[in-house]
Amino acid sequence: MNRIVVLGGGESGVGAAVLAKQKGFEVFLSDMGVLQAQAKEMLAEHAIPFEEGRHTPEQVLNAMEVIKSPGIPDTAPMVEQLIQKGTPVISEIEFAGRYDRAKKICITGSNGKTTTTSLIYFLLKNAGLNVGMAGNIGQSYAYQVATQQHDIYVLELSSFQLDNMYDFKADLAILLNITPDHLDRYGYDMQKYINAKFRITQNMSPEDYFIFCSDDEVTVEQLNKIVLKAQKLPFSQKHPVEQGASVQDGLITSKYGEDEFKIFIDELSLQGKHNVYNSMAAAITGQVMNIRHEFIRESLMTFKGVEHRLEQVGKIRGVLYINDSKATNVNSTWYALETMKTPVVWIAGGTDKGNDYSILHDLVKTKVKALICLGEDNSKLCRDFGDKVSSITQVRSAAEAVQAAYRLAQSGDTVLLSPACASFDLFANYEDRGRQFKEAVRTL
Ligand code: ADP
Repeated sequence: MNRIVVLGGGESGVGAAVLAKQKGFEVFLSDMGVLQAQAKEMLAEHAIPFEEGRHTPEQVLNAMEVIKSPGIPDTAPMVEQLIQKGTPVISEIEFAGRYDRAKKICITGSNGKTTTTSLIYFLLKNAGLNVGMAGNIGQSYAYQVATQQHDIYVLELSSFQLDNMYDFKADLAILLNITPDHLDRYGYDMQKYINAKFRITQNMSPEDYFIFCSDDEVTVEQLNKIVLKAQKLPFSQKHPVEQGASVQDGLITSKYGEDEFKIFIDELSLQGKHNVYNSMAAAITGQVMNIRHEFIRESLMTFKGVEHRLEQVGKIRGVLYINDSKATNVNSTWYALETMKTPVVWIAGGTDKGNDYSILHDLVKTKVKALICLGEDNSKLCRDFGDKVSSITQVRSAAEAVQAAYRLAQSGDTVLLSPACASFDLFANYEDRGRQFKEAVRTL
């Protein structure tokens, strides 16, 4: 039996199918939805049969192994049948990892994954290493393993990807933070979500490294419960550490063995407390990878950031417009507001994921002068912040939101789109929301 079935024909599914075919398997791809033209072309090019709009049991249940896209939950009927039958169901990362000898630097967390992954990739590339970037970002890992050769991979891993990983091992794992997100996929059980995140440490041995935020109580509590063989390198903004990174009087010191790297927070190109964490994780990684300090320093000072993450769109009549559309949960919005140094006109709202806004109350009271609710149903935001801001406006499009913000903001203020919610009520996705926002700002 040599048949691999791939469920889901997005970026990762198509990449996995191409790699499986290259390795000599009989491959079939099945997607409940409609495949993009590009995906179909790629499958045709590699002579990989597929179906769309359905999962045909006779085509799927005869698989030796199934590679499942991270977007498909375990509760999907076809997946349930496969699990019942005892067919191994794995993720694209697990599959591709079997064929990749590269050193693997893996990054997970509730927030900051894409930023930190991109920053570390930038740093290693600046140092002249043959490095690839994949995972929950850009071209799929499997497709890259099939078509390129790298000595190192920087992999962004979501909890959904980690869920179906078993034998995969990270050489260096980074866990940025754990705050409630996607709980609908974990039966509203926080411990299950924590366990998924900690799968990034599975199979690690004493030669491997675990870099984590020791200010994150959830992470520290879980570390006290488990046995972890990897060498632990914490980073903290609250207390000193023996090894790893910490801050004193605005100076970051990162210690790895005898090596000490120092940089002032003011020198970092990425602003905000959250990015201090991300930068510390990157600095420690650079040291472990034996990168010269000048490369680490220069990378941390010049990295431009990633689109839709506290992205400065421009200044109009003295008002700065910031696109933080990727802030799809309350915690990331907390960091955005925390970073603001001027009065804020705050654009928020969208699909609520069971948000608890209470952690934002103090920041909103002190920094936000007007709230613009951009969502189909804004009742919860209005209820929560009605007595905390002096002005609440409800709008239905990015253009309307920007128009309203333009009226409300005065020179010296910041207009911040940081929704704390998913975007699917009014937009295709967070990128669409961010782009529409930027477009509207540019046409002011
Ligand atoms: P992810 O890939 O985990 O979603 P991103 O780097 O795309 O993370 O950032 C998502 C949002 O979280 C952005 O609004 C960003 O400003 C914010 N953010 C980035 N790093 C952190 C962090 N370490 N802690 C909390 N929020 C963060």
